[in-house]
Formats: sequence, structure tokens, C-alpha cells
Amino acid sequence: MNSNKYDWMHQELGQLQAGDRLRNMTESHWLDDGFMERDGVRMLNLASNHYLGLNPWLDDSGWEQVKAWCQQYGETGVRIGSGASRLISGHDGVHAQLEREIAKFKGRQAALVFTSGYMANVGVIAALVGRNDAVFSDRLNHASIVDGALLSRAHMYRYPHLDMNRLEYQLQQWNKTLEGKRNHALIVSDAVFSMDGTVAPLHNLVLLKERYNALLLIDEAHSGGVYGAEGRGLCHELGLHGRVDIVMGTFGKAFGAVGAYIAADDIVIRYMINRARTLIYNTGLPPLMAALILMRLEQVKRADESRTTLMRNASIIRDGLEKSGLNTGEGSSHIVPLILGTDERAMTISRKLAQLGIAGIGIRPPTVPEGTARIRFTPMASQSEDELRKAVSIIVKAVGEA
Ligand code: PMP
Repeated sequence: MNSNKYDWMHQELGQLQAGDRLRNMTESHWLDDGFMERDGVRMLNLASNHYLGLNPWLDDSGWEQVKAWCQQYGETGVRIGSGASRLISGHDGVHAQLEREIAKFKGRQAALVFTSGYMANVGVIAALVGRNDAVFSDRLNHASIVDGALLSRAHMYRYPHLDMNRLEYQLQQWNKTLEGKRNHALIVSDAVFSMDGTVAPLHNLVLLKERYNALLLIDEAHSGGVYGAEGRGLCHELGLHGRVDIVMGTFGKAFGAVGAYIAADDIVIRYMINRARTLIYNTGLPPLMAALILMRLEQVKRADESRTTLMRNASIIRDGLEKSGLNTGEGSSHIVPLILGTDERAMTISRKLAQLGIAGIGIRPPTVPEGTARIRFTPMASQSEDELRKAVSIIVKAVGEA
């Protein structure tokens, strides 16, 4: 009956709520210096990906810069929307300039901009491999990588987190099944893992992809802008950017904007323009946003000091929690998980912290494996040592009392 047509939704959401797995969106009003206000409470924002703490607001000088970028690259004003896919009439001078700048920044022949990191991963993976091919993916890779691999219909091998022996074994197994056919193999990994803060063994990934003649796609969503000179990323820091076939990065995290890119050889970019469906069938990134990202790129390059401060801030949290005997996992990056076990424990502590002025969001399965619910703490470079030390003692106390 019509009145019951959503019963199944009510039922499913009720079950999620009973298991403390219901997701909600709560308004967060950002304040200065890494704070935000939620439900009338001022809290230190340890729950964003705005790692460098760049000015979140567009001030007058930023707006002037945006206008200048647009006009410099052939526009008569600041165009808000692309008006079409980039392949139809949506590609303008600011997009082209952004792609040239990103290619230079990443030290690659060419770059291609997408409307989001999700779109980039889904489109690129589904274009690179198909039904008779294989994807080798770290078990903790981001959902957009998993979705791209599923959409591609390629055979999917998921190796245990960071386990290079297992990856090599899987590559050998795949090679045995090839029987002389020339199919594609794609290895794909986050550079820094979003929920664990662990860092991929990029040297080993490069060696394996070379040994087994696979392609390698590295997702620098969390390491772009944060690692390497001028924030060029982890591949750059390790001198591997020329050996990784495709480097992907986002503008929604350290850059404090939205959108994403891939950087690769010219042929790969030309291939994607013809095959990546999330580029072809998606309205292009707003030119306004492309100009803002050009502005952000300059800010990111100049932020070496913020990168150092960010790492110091992360160490304050990690060292403080570890010293009190809490479990922060195996990571060493600017992302610090506090692994708590049950969903209930993670959610109770996260709610308690919110009341005490700390925003640290509870992360539950299926985002993380069962039994490893956690609170993910991500500081910003703009937050002070004092505030962070205060936060650590509040967190330790709250966990002790839970
Ligand atoms: N890759 C990783 C590793 C991510 O963490 C994210 C964002 N959570 C994405 C890709 C998707 O990027 P975007 O938010 O730009 O869609």
C-alpha cells in the first residue's frame, strides 16, 4: 500500500539507530584558528581534512585574485558553472591553466581535473581495467577505489593492509592464469590511509609493479599538500613520482577547496579524456572553483612552515595518547586514530568529547573493520600547541571515565 511504501527504510534506519550506526549530518559553523561551533558548543576541530589550516574564507584579496586568474586565461568574467561537460563546451582557459600548473607541480607530462576525488578514482579505475583484467587493492583503500574496481568488473584481489608478500603472491597467481593473454593488471593504493594514518610502502609497490608489469595508481588524497617540498606529495618526497604511473590527488583536503586531479604521461591523460565516464558525462568543475584552486595552489606551495607545524601537532596528539596507554594504531602521519573497539564505546566517548569542546568524530564499520571503531583525530597547522595539549588531557580523561 502506498502509505507503507517506505516501511523498509524506516525499519532499516531503526536497526541502524538501535546498533548506534545511524549517520547524521550536524551543522558545523567554522570559527577562526581551527575551532568550530556545533549545537551552541565551541569546540576544537580535530575532525576535518583541512590539514594546513589555510584561511577557510574567501576574503577580498582572494576574490580579486580569482577575478584576475579568470581574466588572465581568456574569460570575460568569473564564470560560476561550466555549463556543460568539459568535452562539450565546459572546458575553459582556467581549467587548462590549472591542469598545466598541476602537471608542473607534480613533475608529470600532463594532468586532468575531475569534480571530486570520488569521481577521479571511479572513472580512472573503470577506464584502466575491464572484465578480463585484474585490480590489486589494499584492503583499507578508500571506498571510491573499491567502487571503481567493482564498476570495472575486473577481477579484484584485495590484499591485507600493507602486506607486500601477499600482493606479490596474488600477482604471481594472476600471471599464472593469464596463459599468454595480454591483460592489464592495476595495483592501487592510498599513499596515506584515511582512517588509520598508516603510510603505504611506496618503494615496494613500485618494485612490484615493475617486476610484474602492472600499472600503479597512487591516491594522494591525504598526502598531497602535506608531504614533500612545497606539498608535492609523498611520491615526490620519496623521488618516485616519475615511476608511479598515475598519481591522483584531491583539492578538498589540504587545499581547502573541492575537486581532484590525476597527473600522468600525456598518453594516459588523452586516454582518460576518451574513456573516463566520470569526466565525459559530468558537468565540469566550476571555472570559479578552478580559479580558487589556482589561488590555493600558490598558498599550498608556500606552506612549508605549516607542514612542519601540522606534523608537530599530530605528534602532540599521538604521543600524548600513547603515553597514557591508549591505542593509536600503527600510523605515523598527521592522521591519528584512537582505536576503541566497540561502536558503543567510540560513540559514547565521541559524544562526551563534543560536550567538552573537542570535535573528534566516531568512525564505525563499515568504514572501518568490525571491532575497530575509533575516533579519528586530525589536527590543523593553525591550531596551537597549548590547545592541543589541553585537548589530549581532556581525551585521556574522557576515555578513562567511559
Ligand atoms: N581518496 C581518499 C583516500 C579519500 O580519503 C577521499 C575522501 N574521503 C577520496 C579519495 C575522495 O575524494 P573527494 O572527497 O574529493 O571526493
